[in-house]
Amino acid sequence: MKLALHWKILIGMILGLLFGIFMKNIGMVGAVTDWIKPFGTIFINLLKMIAVPLIVVSLITGLADLKDISKLSKLGGRTVALYLFTTVFAVCIGLVLANVIKPGSYINEVSRDTLLSSFTGDANAKIQMAETAKNQGPLQPLIDVVPENFFQALTDNASMLKVILFTILLGIGIILVDEKKSQPVVDFFKGLNEVILKIIDIIMLAAPIGVFALMASLMVEIPDFTTLGALAIYGMTVLLGLLIMTYIVYPTMLYSFAKVGPRRFFSAIAPAQLLGFSTSSSAATLPVTLECVTEHLGVDEEVTSFVLPLGATVNMDGTSLYQAVAAVFIAQAMGIHLDLTTQLMIVVTATLASIGSAAVPSAGMVMLVIVLGQAGIPEAGLALIFAIDRPLDMCRTVVNITSDSAVATIVGNSVGKLRKPEDIHERKL
Ligand code: ASP
Repeated sequence: MKLALHWKILIGMILGLLFGIFMKNIGMVGAVTDWIKPFGTIFINLLKMIAVPLIVVSLITGLADLKDISKLSKLGGRTVALYLFTTVFAVCIGLVLANVIKPGSYINEVSRDTLLSSFTGDANAKIQMAETAKNQGPLQPLIDVVPENFFQALTDNASMLKVILFTILLGIGIILVDEKKSQPVVDFFKGLNEVILKIIDIIMLAAPIGVFALMASLMVEIPDFTTLGALAIYGMTVLLGLLIMTYIVYPTMLYSFAKVGPRRFFSAIAPAQLLGFSTSSSAATLPVTLECVTEHLGVDEEVTSFVLPLGATVNMDGTSLYQAVAAVFIAQAMGIHLDLTTQLMIVVTATLASIGSAAVPSAGMVMLVIVLGQAGIPEAGLALIFAIDRPLDMCRTVVNITSDSAVATIVGNSVGKLRKPEDIHERKL
């Protein structure tokens, strides 16, 4: 019981993985789907359930603590600039790797045709979803940020940006109102914030069981890796890019701009990374990311409560890198040449598509259709990468979360809101 949370989660994951493989081998897939998978779904639902109240309450208390609008604009400016920079950087790494390794050239005609003909209704449904997104006007994303009805936005998990916008306005209102008048409101939300953090602690007690169930059901559901041989080089290209971001780019940025070493950073955010891997959802992981970066890394809540929810929704470096590699891979496999201008367009479209991707499983693949469309690559090419998407989704979600945490730390440090290790008094997760 004394084991640190990330060890408990890791053990749950490994046991789930082994259990899933075992059950698949003895032909008991149905038993896992019927009796184990629901516990994974319950765990994800619990996390999602608490994510929206947590964003609202922690954002309000964080903004109220800023006490100054100019501080908010400084924080916002730096956050957005860093988010954009890391996303574009990730796309460029993806493009370079895909052009150098040429994963598409490893696909022969037979395996390409097999993959294309295995096009399932599921993949078709994904394309339909993306088509709807594509057919809207260019300013639709802007309209989508403004809620018509706040309470309706609260009930829709895809409306995180709407909730954030309204909450920021509420926070600004609190800052601008006379302190005597706003104090009761702030006190209420501060108290509620503590209560919500306690609820997260309680939910996290179930984390090892939750990830066990998630991994076990995943193992019985994903196709056999042996049949995916043709996609191995593509998968490894994406993985290499994700590893470069995680272990070279972020640690370098963190050390250069915040003097935070990799050991301190990774040990603090390990629970969030593991959970991101198991759930494939930055949104579901957000409560834990917030707790890790605030409590373990020592970034003040007034920074994390703003930077992290925003990051979970718009900053997806792993997703943008994956989209760049996937687009080039599909083009190569289908014998389509992408000139430099088209590849530069991919930098723009993959950046925008990753910003537009919801923080839920396989959202990055849905939005990939937009990148393909712009680059003149047939959407049917999605079938080529469909089979291997889930494991890659798990890995890119880890990068998305790592990036949010790194940016929160750097921005926190730049505004003097990063505590020294000796001043961190961890609440035990
Ligand atoms: N699953 C990813 C996330 O939640 C998004 C994606 O599909 O790339 O961060």
